[in-house]
Amino acid sequence: MDKKLQNQIAIITGASSGIGEGCAKEFSKAGATVVVNYPVDAAKDMAEKVVADITATGGNAIAYKCDVSKEDEVIKMFVDVVAQFGTVDILINNAGLQRDSKFEEMSLATWNFVIGVNLTGQFLCAREAIKEFLRRGVDETRSKAAGKIICMSSVHEVIPWAGHANYAASKGGIMLMMKTIAQEFAPRKIRINSIAPGAIQTPINKDAWDTAAHLQNLLRLIPEKRIGNVEDIGKAAVFLASDDADYINGTTLFVDGGMTLYPGFEDNG
Ligand code: NAD
Repeated sequence: MDKKLQNQIAIITGASSGIGEGCAKEFSKAGATVVVNYPVDAAKDMAEKVVADITATGGNAIAYKCDVSKEDEVIKMFVDVVAQFGTVDILINNAGLQRDSKFEEMSLATWNFVIGVNLTGQFLCAREAIKEFLRRGVDETRSKAAGKIICMSSVHEVIPWAGHANYAASKGGIMLMMKTIAQEFAPRKIRINSIAPGAIQTPINKDAWDTAAHLQNLLRLIPEKRIGNVEDIGKAAVFLASDDADYINGTTLFVDGGMTLYPGFEDNG
């Protein structure tokens, strides 16, 4: 099998579950050494299970605790990973959460919490990754790029979402942060792109698929009439991180079964 990420080091934030876990496993299959980031002690066992699954298949991985919304913890994570593995080639900015609320009832704390993890967390990790990519520069034995960042956005970077203003604002913010830093660092051979998942079956959206009725309701929004799985995202992320995507920079890849195709118009509107 062609290992497109052979010998590359990937930090994947929020990788003890869901899409991050899926990316960690696909990246390992593609030959990368994976840092399985998790935020709190309560997630440690899950992160270690992901690491055990990877090492059982002959891959390399470590679990690393860091809350991506905390600047000192993010800086330390990059320092420690570079000390252990020599460098970082890929960042998957995946950690994210929802705290839904009617807008008129949303507290500042709820707003700040979601923005802090989903947007500020991506800023902090991207900044530390870019410092390391600039330090190392291009090493063609690793990749044509000095480094790659994939920001986990959402279809809600373009689809408004009532009752989720903090989440949608964080994803819209990710879109222009991603494009802006892609513009800034493309001349230094750093590639930065986003993936916008549609509905992927993970813990974050359990309410949307946990009963047959809920799932049926969700499928109305998806032209392909299936919920996505974490491998759909992991495979797209491997492609975007690999040299096969060397001319792709500053774009969002929608992996959504057609959710952004206005499915309300399927039957002539
Ligand atoms: P998930 O809840 O399984 O994963 C989110 C992960 O982020 C968890 O492992 C959690 O521990 C971690 N996390 C939370 N706060 C953190 C922090 N402060 N520091 C580090 N890690 C932290 O859900 P998921 O669906 O896998 O979500 C992953 C990403 O995909 C999120 O950014 C989410 O917004 C995005 N997304 C998911 C879907 C979907 O349908 N599942 C759709 C669009 C976008």
